[in-house]
Amino acid sequence: MIITIHTQATSEERASLMTLLCRITGSQRPITSTTIGGQEVIALDSSTVDEQAQSALKQQSAVDRLVTPKTSYQLVSRTLMSESSVLVGDSRRCTPVTISTTSSPVIMAGPCAVENKEQLISIAHAVKQAGAHVLRGGAFKPRTSPYQFQGLGIEGLKLLSEAREATGLPVITEVMEPSMVDAVAEHADVLQIGSRNMQNFPLLTAAGKHRLKRPVMLKRGLSATIDEWLLAAEYILAAGNPNVLLCERGIRSYDPQTRNVLDLSCVPLLHELTHLPVIVDPSHATGKRELVPTMSRASIAAGAEGLIIEVHHDPNTALCDGRQSITPDQLRKIAAETKLLTRLMKEEQAIARVA
Ligand code: PEP
Ligand code: MN
Repeated sequence: MIITIHTQATSEERASLMTLLCRITGSQRPITSTTIGGQEVIALDSSTVDEQAQSALKQQSAVDRLVTPKTSYQLVSRTLMSESSVLVGDSRRCTPVTISTTSSPVIMAGPCAVENKEQLISIAHAVKQAGAHVLRGGAFKPRTSPYQFQGLGIEGLKLLSEAREATGLPVITEVMEPSMVDAVAEHADVLQIGSRNMQNFPLLTAAGKHRLKRPVMLKRGLSATIDEWLLAAEYILAAGNPNVLLCERGIRSYDPQTRNVLDLSCVPLLHELTHLPVIVDPSHATGKRELVPTMSRASIAAGAEGLIIEVHHDPNTALCDGRQSITPDQLRKIAAETKLLTRLMKEEQAIARVA
């Protein structure tokens, strides 16, 4: 159950509501409110709110309305609002970009891993020129083998800040542990939570709570169901951060021909279930650079609000994921096709509205 709070509620009215909520929930967890689309809301497990508790809540003057989504996820539910708009980047340090259904699709691009200064800065300039809006690059890399390149760590974060300064592009990078959220948020404009950590609940909560409230891009777990994914996103919102992007990056299957199976049906499905924007990662989904352009087009056609693509100036020498990395020239073509396709789809929608 979601409680929406009156914008004009006084501190006494709010305190009275909080006391009642502590009584109803038995103070099992701290009551946190989240501001979503300008509306302050608190979510509760509906099973703890019986009829008597509901009528007590309705009598509280701080309460605007009670919304009961029929799903286990609450704050991410489309019942609450039709679509979120996520602002990426702070204009004091980069060129911000809005990610929403009504804006043009956003392209995030860059190397899988930050390797060194020269590599990052040259790719950053190249992806910007090719039409990217956000620079990606991993400083902390979750590698399958402990003997593989693990990323430059803090040094990589500093290089990402330098790349933002040099290009004006906001940056996205992965955070792997709760204790690192604040440090990563200082340097990053978007926190990425990777597939392997989709259900790292302390990490999700830390990303929800952190002071700077940077947007969080939550990648789908290797074999996560949509409901598990949405409930993982719910952790971030429930901890106070409404700025969440979902990223489909393929799910495990039996066929080694592609690294994963890109579940594009999840894009329109998520648009029915949640207000959160959806980003598609055709690089990790396919694992093969020759499939990236086609699956990028398919993702835009399916309605994705953005793409995240691995780009390297010399993919064959990349320290991580070179096989699925494309060149800046190939990215330029994808960016142009994305624009064209978006224009076509908008025209189509306009015609459909008139007809
Ligand atoms: C990545 O983006 O480089 C990455 C490790 O992705 P995923 O978590 O989807 O495997
Ligand atoms: Mn990668």
